[in-house]
Amino acid sequence: MENSKNLRKWLDDMNLDHPLVIAGPCSAETEEQVLKIAHELKDTDVNYFRAGIWKPRTRPGGFEGVGALGLKWLQKVREETGLKTATEVANKDHVKLALEYDVDLLWIGARSTVSPFIIQEIADELKGTDKIVLIKNPVNPDLALWLGAVERLYNAGIKNLGVIHRGFSTYEKTKYRNIPEWQLAIELQQRFPDLPIINDPSHITGKRDMVHEVCQTALDLNFDGLMIETHHDPENAWSDAPQQVTPASLIKMMKDLKVRKQNDPEQAFNNEIGTLRSQIDVIDEQLLESLGKRMKISDAIGQLKEAHNVSVLQSSRWNEILGRMILEGEKRGLSEEFVLKLFKAIHQESINHQEKIVNH
Ligand code: PEP
Ligand code: MN
Repeated sequence: MENSKNLRKWLDDMNLDHPLVIAGPCSAETEEQVLKIAHELKDTDVNYFRAGIWKPRTRPGGFEGVGALGLKWLQKVREETGLKTATEVANKDHVKLALEYDVDLLWIGARSTVSPFIIQEIADELKGTDKIVLIKNPVNPDLALWLGAVERLYNAGIKNLGVIHRGFSTYEKTKYRNIPEWQLAIELQQRFPDLPIINDPSHITGKRDMVHEVCQTALDLNFDGLMIETHHDPENAWSDAPQQVTPASLIKMMKDLKVRKQNDPEQAFNNEIGTLRSQIDVIDEQLLESLGKRMKISDAIGQLKEAHNVSVLQSSRWNEILGRMILEGEKRGLSEEFVLKLFKAIHQESINHQEKIVNH
């Protein structure tokens, strides 16, 4: 991956004046459905028409896709609309068939990226192809696993590569279906600035109402494109119904999203500062999230203290925390003065919370 300069050639060659857009239904359901959506996306900013034909469902019993039959429908999409086509491949048989039917872009799903065995099998079957291959992040927030998959494909001689950020699963209840963990995508961008990165707001949010805001964040963070699940009748989609948008709302969204021009030299400074500020915004949000979580734990400690009639201020414990944090802060280039101020403020807030609990 050292000489990975040509990784974004396929994207640069497209000469787009907007972010790359991959849109289409979660699943190909019927020939009629596929063609109807494709025709509604024709002559828009959409570059690739997506449709899953082999659907990995978390639990058996859901719609598992139409299978190879859908490949013929994708060919028809290209013939009738001129849209390039994209589908997910999850094993060597899928790869063989997708290449045979000349699908333009293949992506590897989150459930496959977790398995180096599967990735190697797919890489071996793809050897030498000039098709575009995009790798979704693994289900779990593990950057090494994601990079490992990219490397396996790169080593198999696949040079038209990119990644898709679709969020990560978490046991915690959040407003997302898969939490974005933006800092992971940012780290990947920093390690491989030439690797195109596409955002998938549909699987991150799980809700169509939130798709727009996640698209905007991705564009602010300099993502190269968007993959958005789009269906002519989202409510009645056979899979992922709550998150799909209509072609009309996709088109409107593309108009409303603010895209910063990437290659206008006068804009370079603004672009760079905009990206850095978006990264700071992401981290600030995480800081607050972590502080909120810390305060909840502190509340639970307050309740325990009350039940056992123990005093709120525990000086030795507090001194131990401070000493440790000053050392940890130093390792990260943070001054003792700052760490002291910060932790005193956090500690004071904890005490205020616990006082309220003890004296309720
Ligand atoms: C999909 O794109 O329809 C899909 C199954 O996505 P993921 O692999 O991100 O769950
Ligand atoms: Mn889906």
